Amino acid sequence: MLLRHTPKKLEEREALTINPAKTCQPVGAMYAALGIHKCLPHSHGSQGCCSYHRSALTRHYKEPVMATTSSFTEGASVFGGQANLLEGINNIFTVYDPDVVAVHTTCLSEVIGDDLNQIIRKAQEEGKIPKGKRVIHTNTPSFKGSHVTGFANMTQSMVTYFSENTGSRQKQINLIPGFVEPSDMAELKRIMSEMGVKSVMFPDTSGVLNGPMTGKFKMFPNGGATVDQIKSAGDSFFTLALGRTASLPAAKSLDTKCKVPCEILDLPIGLRATDIFVDNLRKTAGVNVPDSIKFERGQLLDVITDMHQYFYGKKAALVGDPDQLSSLAEFLTDLDMKVTVVVTGTPAGPKFERRVHEASGEKTTVKYGLGSDMFLFHQLVKNDKPDLIFGNTYAKYIARDEDIPLIRTGFPIYDRIGHQYFPMVGYKGALRLLERVLSAVMDRQDRDAPEERFELVM
Ligand code: SF4
Repeated sequence: MLLRHTPKKLEEREALTINPAKTCQPVGAMYAALGIHKCLPHSHGSQGCCSYHRSALTRHYKEPVMATTSSFTEGASVFGGQANLLEGINNIFTVYDPDVVAVHTTCLSEVIGDDLNQIIRKAQEEGKIPKGKRVIHTNTPSFKGSHVTGFANMTQSMVTYFSENTGSRQKQINLIPGFVEPSDMAELKRIMSEMGVKSVMFPDTSGVLNGPMTGKFKMFPNGGATVDQIKSAGDSFFTLALGRTASLPAAKSLDTKCKVPCEILDLPIGLRATDIFVDNLRKTAGVNVPDSIKFERGQLLDVITDMHQYFYGKKAALVGDPDQLSSLAEFLTDLDMKVTVVVTGTPAGPKFERRVHEASGEKTTVKYGLGSDMFLFHQLVKNDKPDLIFGNTYAKYIARDEDIPLIRTGFPIYDRIGHQYFPMVGYKGALRLLERVLSAVMDRQDRDAPEERFELVM
């Protein structure tokens, strides 16, 4: 009963966060950077920040996450971190030889006001960046935004630094996948290849953070979008961006910088959002939906129909990242469940609130940004008494205290595996999600059933 003192009564709070429902911007920036082939993320700040970001990613993906740091000490905190970064860039290329170094700032370097553009220019002028190698950066002040914002910022920087409109349009579309798992990125690519759609997807962490055990350590795994691919995104004829919070800035930049028009879609989680994604691919690329994809859709529909009675009327409370939450709310509502509470620590804005209400009805309590933390989520759960909770590992304390089954979704998930390997997007992803929800519902039913109603067959 770790959180037993959480009061049921809600009080207005303005300047206090208790157990945030988000992590910090650089975590997302580091994750996005790992989706570039042969890229070494670099944290411009103190060693402690970098250790935290690396450990958050390592514990979630169960893979060693490599990153370097400017290692600020008292001197850098007072005089700025230029000298540290210049020396760092020199060392990184000498020792590790990456193709790209992707620098993100931290709270400390943001407060100091280090000008990363100027420092990278200086590194270039001083010959610290070898020929053919690149250093990119993004600003990730963690006193605003969240890991999703950091991911969005780094993805946008890939466009700013790499994408080019060479004047010759290519018959390919860009897919910006949003803050999703490596398994989801692999699934998105599979769907596109099944449909015969030529695409460039970035960032792409599949094969980087869910790779196989080979017995040999590889500093830079085989996966990731190459610099040439991201460069060619400027020549694509269209961009599909999944998830407004994580993907909109990069898509808009591609439009402004390279004149590639874009469409922003919800993350394809669930039947309806996947239908919209597949239909947009079909229309944009001028292809037909193959029987193999229709078959997957049919299987999903079959399970929804067969098991509908178990989902009907079940109340769900959701906490996590905005792009995922709105699609999830829609999918659960389509299953005739009642989504009563949706909370995110990311400052997702009124558009997010509108989207959730559109998906699950006006009665859903939606909270986002400052003060929307795990403490508030717990209070709402206490009042609402949902049948299921959807959230990351930190929600397990609430689930245990309130004796409510938890379906692990979002980031971070430290205490289970599977998210790296099994997608949640697409028809196959929705099927797996259904199976997990159903198992939670049935396990609870079996646990609580009186002997005479303890059924062998569901
Ligand atoms: S919130 Fe700021 S100080 Fe804390 S780990 Fe993140 S970047 Fe570092």
